[in-house]
Amino acid sequence: MAVHYTIIPSNPAGHIFSVAIRISKPDPAGQIFSMPAWIPGSYMIRDFARNVVSLKAESDGIDIPVHKQDKQTWLCDPCGGELLISYDIYAWDLSVRTAHLDGTHAYFNGTSVFMRIAGHEQQSCTMDVLPPEGRQYKNWKVSTAMTTDGATLHGFGRYTASSYDELVDHPVECGDFTLATFEVAGVPHDIVITGRHRADMNRLCRDLKVICQHHIDLFGELPEMDRYVFQVMAVGDGYGGLEHRASTSLICKRDDLPLEKDADTVTEGYRQFLGLCSHEYFHTWNVKRIKPVHFVDMDLQQEVHTNQLWAYEGITSYYDDLSLVRTGLITPESYLELLEQTVTRVWRGSGRLKQSVAESSFDTWTKFYKQDENAPNAIVSYYAKGSLLALSVDLLIRKHTSGEKSLDDVMRLLWQRHGRTGIGTEERTIEEVISEVAGADLSDFFEACLYGPEDPPLEELFANNGVQCRFRPSAGLSDKGGKSGKTDDQLLATVNLGVILAAGNTVKLAMVMEAGPAMKAGLSAGDELVAIDGIRVDKAGFESILHRYMPGDSIEIHAFRRDELSVFSVVLEPAAADTCELSVITAQLVSRWLGLEM
Ligand code: ZN
Repeated sequence: MAVHYTIIPSNPAGHIFSVAIRISKPDPAGQIFSMPAWIPGSYMIRDFARNVVSLKAESDGIDIPVHKQDKQTWLCDPCGGELLISYDIYAWDLSVRTAHLDGTHAYFNGTSVFMRIAGHEQQSCTMDVLPPEGRQYKNWKVSTAMTTDGATLHGFGRYTASSYDELVDHPVECGDFTLATFEVAGVPHDIVITGRHRADMNRLCRDLKVICQHHIDLFGELPEMDRYVFQVMAVGDGYGGLEHRASTSLICKRDDLPLEKDADTVTEGYRQFLGLCSHEYFHTWNVKRIKPVHFVDMDLQQEVHTNQLWAYEGITSYYDDLSLVRTGLITPESYLELLEQTVTRVWRGSGRLKQSVAESSFDTWTKFYKQDENAPNAIVSYYAKGSLLALSVDLLIRKHTSGEKSLDDVMRLLWQRHGRTGIGTEERTIEEVISEVAGADLSDFFEACLYGPEDPPLEELFANNGVQCRFRPSAGLSDKGGKSGKTDDQLLATVNLGVILAAGNTVKLAMVMEAGPAMKAGLSAGDELVAIDGIRVDKAGFESILHRYMPGDSIEIHAFRRDELSVFSVVLEPAAADTCELSVITAQLVSRWLGLEM
């Protein structure tokens, strides 16, 4: 093989992987090699070269001088024979985007550990994964969707990839993990869980199989692969996932995983976990194969900009939960509750009136992925509002075709034209396919709601499908949307400060909403509230103190900014009508939209 990689978790206690790359025919003019700056699916410059330690190059036992070209690129002096590059990687970031190594496991994405060898990117390469030394690691196994080339299933040894791009798209987990396998479309699917947990593996296999089958039926086929892997890291607190061509890496709370004694109960945490698995598996088609033209042979050295993430993340976010209700894993009531929460999340941020979803996609590198305390006032999420655009498009297609067609037909066409062929979608392709399926020109909708900051006409679209959508004032800090259990008069008497609190027991402001009572009074994110009208407040008593007041009342708040105590005079206001409540009016119409048996 022209390029051969070897990786070993050489020092688990020091979080060090040792990597060696053997290049049989290096560039006679001097070999250039580099580390990626980002990982596909997570649109932020992470500069993986920052974790490279003590790099050297040799040929025939002789050291070859190496010259740094920029933050992530190196150049070797010319050498006659085979070139061997070796270096260490510091790996101590517990996330699905990077690499993490200690005595309990070794996890890595190729983008965090493997150099790209210039001129050899399109050639196939091999990778040896070796176990750490020591008896305590004797039970370690290997999980990856990469094709084996001598390694036994789930074993250390040699694997192969058809290009550098493929090499870095198969994350690898090594350790004494829990493993269960189920089969869908004739392809084995592994679920691998790292971390301490007591999850019901049979239940997970059963439920994930239903989701996988739904997505395969939707697109018509599973893309060609030997095996698919759900790689899960169970932790005390965490949430996230990253899609790959034949696997996904997930991080979740161990409490979100189902227990045997839960029987068929779907807890809120498990519903979220199933939604995450569904989301990442949907990406197997939507973004890993159907992809923006800019993501074909993508440049991992710098930002790649596109307006299209509303479709790749928004449509995926729409289907992740929709497939749970379609397959009966959750009830229609539970699904509407998830929709109420998404709509409420979007409606509560005034940033949605300033940034369009297309701009949010384009600027994701510097805004969505670098959110600060001002985010709700300045930006909109192409996931959340993108999923509402997908919902709107689905309902618009159904309206224009009298229920004959839906977004499903769009996804199938995109799969046939762009997924199977590998032809990337241009900036307007997906919108054109949507209009084609709808048999109507929907460009006015896209101009207003995708390229402009307008809200989609949800009330009208829901009404067409048997659901009443109304916006009411929030009932308090824990109100995420849905039925409040309060009368309209009670809601109108509820006061609102216009803040989001930080985690913890103190009343610390995480975010201050634009033009809300707190901002008008001069309060700021980071301020810690200690007293209201001279009475001490803590997190537990905060809402009951506010409950004593009516809109229009003026209160005095004592708060620390850093270590300085100040007093703020706040005029309380009623909460804005930004909380979504959905009610089923015509069950038959809802069943038709959700594809349920009647
Ligand atoms: Zn996604």
